[in-house]
Order: sequence, then C-alpha cells, then structure tokens
Amino acid sequence: MLIQTTLSPHDAFDASRLRRRLIELAHADEASVTGLRLVSRSVDARQRNIKVNVKAQVYVNEPMPDVAYEAPRYRDVHGARHSVIIVGSGPAGLFAALHLLENGVKPIVLERGNDVTERKRDIAALCRNIELNSDSNYCFGEGGAGTFSDGKLYTRSNKRGDISRVLQIFHHHGAADNILYEAHPHIGSDKLPAIVKHIRQTIIDCGGEFHSKTRVTDIIIREQRAVGCVTAQGGEYIADAVVLATGHSAHDIYRMLINHHMPLEAKGFALGVRVEHPQELIDNIQYRQQRGILPAAAYQLVTQVQGRGVYSFCMCPGGHIVPATTDASLCVVNGMSASHRNSPYANSGIVVEVRVEDIPQHYASRGALAGLYYQRDVERMARRAAEQGNTFAAPAQRLADFCHGKISASLPSCSFVPGLVSSPIHQWLP
Ligand SMILES: Cc1cc2nc3c(=O)[nH]c(=O)nc-3n(C[C@H](O)[C@H](O)[C@H](O)COP(=O)(O)OP(=O)(O)OC[C@H]3O[C@@H](n4cnc5c(N)ncnc54)[C@H](O)[C@@H]3O)c2cc1C
Repeated sequence: MLIQTTLSPHDAFDASRLRRRLIELAHADEASVTGLRLVSRSVDARQRNIKVNVKAQVYVNEPMPDVAYEAPRYRDVHGARHSVIIVGSGPAGLFAALHLLENGVKPIVLERGNDVTERKRDIAALCRNIELNSDSNYCFGEGGAGTFSDGKLYTRSNKRGDISRVLQIFHHHGAADNILYEAHPHIGSDKLPAIVKHIRQTIIDCGGEFHSKTRVTDIIIREQRAVGCVTAQGGEYIADAVVLATGHSAHDIYRMLINHHMPLEAKGFALGVRVEHPQELIDNIQYRQQRGILPAAAYQLVTQVQGRGVYSFCMCPGGHIVPATTDASLCVVNGMSASHRNSPYANSGIVVEVRVEDIPQHYASRGALAGLYYQRDVERMARRAAEQGNTFAAPAQRLADFCHGKISASLPSCSFVPGLVSSPIHQWLP
C-alpha cells in the first residue's frame, strides 16, 4: 500500500516513530506488516512550522521485494569479441565500463593514479603538508575526483533527464538505501571509496581489465579511428575504440589532443572561492530554529551581478574544505562532507561565470586552451599569495572584508587542514 503523507521532523526522521506512523496510516497492525520502504522524503522548511513530505510503501500480509528496482545485469566478457579502452576511472569512466559490461563488450580501464587504499595515504600526506603526488590526490586516482567528492547525487539542471538509474547502480554497489528516496541524495566521502572498490570488482569479475598507476601519454590512431593508447609506463594497449574519460584536471590530455590536431573549442567556465560558515548559523537561518533531528541545512544562491551570473556551487553542509590541486605550484580548493554531515562547518563554492570573451587578450595565442592557461595563472597567484604559510596553505579573507576590499586582520577557525594565510583576494580575483 502506498502512503503519502506530511509528518513532523521527529515523526519523519526518528526510525521507530516513522514506522509507527506509517503503520497507523496504513490502518494495519504491527503483526501483519511484512516490510516498509520509503519512496521519497523531502523537508519543507518554507514555513516556521517545518514539515516533511513522505511517501512510503507499506507491505501488509505480502512479501516485500528485496530491492525496488531491476538489478543491473553485467555480462561475462572473458571471451568477448570486442573491447574498448577507457582512459580514467572517474565516475564517467566507471559508468562507461559498466555500460560496456551490460552490452557484452570488454572494458580495459587505464588509470594514472593509485587504487583507493593507497590514495587515502597520498591524501593524508597532502593534508599534513608533507607532499603532493601529482598522479594520486583529490582529483587523480581510482574513482577520479568522485572518490573523495562530496557524493551529492542531484543537479539543479533539469536538462539531465532521469538520474534514478545512476542512483540504483550506486545502490547496487553498496550505497545506503537513503539515496533512493531522499530528495537530495548524498553518499558522503567516507562511503565512496568502498563503492568505487566494489565497482572495480564488478569490472574484474566479469572479465574486464583495470590497470591503476597507468598514465596514458598518447592515443594510437589508425584510419582516423582511436584504437589504442601508449602509457608513461612503456605499455601499449589496443582495442576497438578508446573512451577518454580523463575529467577536467587532466590538462596534459588536452595538450595531447591539440598535438593530434583534434578540433577543440574554448568554452566559458566559472571561477571563485569557497565560502565557509558555522553550520549552526546556516541551520538557524534555514530552519529558523535549532536543527534538532533534521539534516544539516543547505543553501543555494543564484543571482546576477552587473549582468553576470554569480552562484553557489557544490554546497557541503557539515563538511570540509580540501586541497584539490594536482600541481604543487597551484592552489585549488574544493568541498566534501562525510555521510553524517557532522562537521561544525558549512562550505560552498561561490563562483562567477567567466565567458570566453572575458579571458584576457594575451591568452589568445593559446587558442582553444586560453581559458585553461588563464585558470592556471589565477591558481598560481593563489599559491603565491599563501607562500609564507604551510606548503599547501590557501589564501583566505573574511567574507565581509572581501566585500569591503579590506585585508583581514584575523581569520576564524576553518575546516581546511593545511592552513590559511590572510590575503587580499579581492585584488586578484576577477
Ligand atoms: C572534493 C570534491 C568534491 C566534489 N563534490 C561533488 C558532488 O558532491 N557532486 C558532484 O556531482 N560532483 C562533485 N565533485 C565533482 C565530481 O567529482 C566531478 O565532476 C567528477 O568526478 C567528474 O567525473 P569524470 O569521470 O568526468 O572525471 P574525474 O573524476 O576527474 O576522473 C578522471 C580520471 O581520469 C584519470 N586520468 C586523467 N588523466 C589520465 C591519463 N592521462 N591516463 C590515465 N588516467 C587519467 C584521473 O586520475 C581520474 O581518475 C567534487 C569534486 C571534488 C574534487
């Protein structure tokens, strides 16, 4: 029986109270209920009296199915006639590999970085200001930028179609049930590595190949088709086709494509800062009361300033700001949060759109890569601005000082472990 109702936060988020309320609403008795499954849950905090909309299936005197979706069917590709090389094991590469398995094609995944276990050690060394492994960090390595990402699985864009199959595939590989019903599904950086490992195991068990520490330096083109790759480790791989799933940070791959005279086009992007507040402040603003049993509150900002889009990006309630560079001469930060979102900080990217025509003229000689060179120069400036701090420290400024064009005399505590250096960010950010 499908129950659709509106509950108080306590009834919706306390598991035993929720169970009791749903059984009541189904007019059933405890003994006849064989199972309960949430279909959707969303918090409506527009009014002072916060409500939670809940949809659930209550199974009464009938068996509850194991899962609410059709499990993916991955085929055995040990003897497959066709194979495809996938360069990069980020979300795009891993999902491409799974898609090939569903279609009986053997994926050969080539990944420049370390596996998730070693990668955790590389990231710990980075956060402790010891060293940056340029092939294994927050962006590179098994699972790509996705492994230690926040794991938010929703999008503001309504052009992306139905993402429920993506959620089901994550669930099939070990993500918690709640990603299937929460309005804003979130896995958390603490849970993602195990899921990535599980996906790798699916690929290997079905007969695919997974090579970590294997950096592609060139593609082999025959009769105008990409059919293979050359690696920095001296290997050569040949298949029917090549999928480049190397993400945004692999600038070497863009340069390799230019060397092959591939048609590339510059596109606009967004540039900005991470803003951090105490999570309690965000909770009090969004819920107009203490959070209590409710999840850490999120926010989003979309506005126009002088005809230009300014917006929040990848808001991480109860999260951390992390050093996300792949190059020790640059400073890049990003945000993440664990599944319980229980850090005392809330951070978000606040970015401004940079149009192709905004890129300073002196980058024009870089052609399609002009934006990348401009971005790198801003990131280099950020690194220099924090030079007198720890090795991977980041420049920082109080938000009010940034708005008033004033250097901050002191900085508050922050989730960013490598350290901060007070800096006039307003002077060098576009
Ligand atoms: C800290 C953090 C938090 C984030 N939070 C979120 C979030 O909550 N929600 C969200 O939707 N997005 C989030 N993102 C962004 C998201 O992780 C990326 O959009 C996503 O990972 C892009 O996927 P991708 O597969 O295209 O590329 P990537 O994840 O960048 O993967 C590319 C892979 O290719 C490999 N590679 C690169 N060059 C080579 C080469 N030459 N040879 C072999 N392998 C190579 C890399 O090592 C990497 O594994 C976050 C990112 C970070 C860093």
